Amino acid sequence: MNKIYDLIIIGGGPAGITAGIYAARKKIKILLIAKDFIGQIGKTNEVDNYPGFSKISGLDLMKKFEEHLKKFSFEIKKQKVIKVGKIQQGFAVKTEEKEEFLTKTIIVATGRDPRPLEAEGEKEYIGRGVSYCSICDGPFFQNKAVAVIGGGNSGFEAALDLVKYAKRIFIFEKSEKIIADEVLRDRAKKEKKIEIHTNTEIKKIEGNNKVQDLIYQDLKTRKTYQVPTDGVFIQIGSIPATGFLKDLVEFNQTDEIKVDFETCATSCSGIWAAGDVNNGEWKQIIIAASDGARAALAVYEYLQKN
Ligand SMILES: Cc1cc2nc3c(=O)[nH]c(=O)nc-3n(C[C@H](O)[C@H](O)[C@H](O)COP(=O)(O)OP(=O)(O)OC[C@H]3O[C@@H](n4cnc5c(N)ncnc54)[C@H](O)[C@@H]3O)c2cc1C
Repeated sequence: MNKIYDLIIIGGGPAGITAGIYAARKKIKILLIAKDFIGQIGKTNEVDNYPGFSKISGLDLMKKFEEHLKKFSFEIKKQKVIKVGKIQQGFAVKTEEKEEFLTKTIIVATGRDPRPLEAEGEKEYIGRGVSYCSICDGPFFQNKAVAVIGGGNSGFEAALDLVKYAKRIFIFEKSEKIIADEVLRDRAKKEKKIEIHTNTEIKKIEGNNKVQDLIYQDLKTRKTYQVPTDGVFIQIGSIPATGFLKDLVEFNQTDEIKVDFETCATSCSGIWAAGDVNNGEWKQIIIAASDGARAALAVYEYLQKN
């Protein structure tokens, strides 16, 4: 018979780590499962709105979170959860690494994944030129030509980050207008390496084992063009990472898990959802951390009552 945990936390971002810290102090039987301890914030250059750190890189902040978490002794598995199912005593959590863990309660803190472009060739070239993180993969594009897809803040931030490495950077935006903040637009305008194309749709990413070019259509003239490029950085937003939950909890129209904002309880008794994965309006580190703390305290109260 498998042992049964009091709580399984899924996710190693600000929400999951804070839930871990709070739950560990209650001395319950915990397992934290996370694909990584980087989360979304580890992929950003600079954070200046987390109290106690007037300026810190996202990766350094996440390292500090992880170090803090690991001061407490409980089980941690670096795995990817692929399914959660209901069992008599609570829930069974299955991972891609073919393990199964049983638990009385769950805190889902899986945040958000990058939104895929759904262009031909995208999936084929992931890790071979297609990337969703300039901070992680930018250094591989030393002196190369790269394309950034998306003209929002994250697209512009990625392009400005890539200036350090690439020799040429194309930004492709589907709409007529660039929606990135003015301060980012001004910085990009000053960079000779950056070239901005609005009204464009990416049709195909091509290559031969590695990305070599992309095909886009000018939405005004309907003409298609081929641009030689070694890298394609996709920055078109994100989607909640909830695929493994299926019909267990209620979602809103954008696939965020609906919660009671005070406790982060979901529609399924025994499951809480903290951080960017839930339907809270603001997606910020401090809010995710606060959700993690409230969810852990609510789990403890639930375990005491049941
Ligand atoms: C480009 C960018 C810049 C940002 N800048 C700021 C900023 O300056 N200040 C600020 O306050 N906020 C900022 N944010 C928002 C902030 O990053 C998020 O609000 C915060 O990271 C949410 O934390 P989270 O723990 O809910 O989720 P995430 O950070 O997304 O962490 C999710 C965790 O779950 C894990 N996971 C996901 N799926 C699975 C699975 N199936 N199995 C196991 N583990 C899984 C992931 O590996 C990760 O560890 C920024 C976001 C982006 C994208």
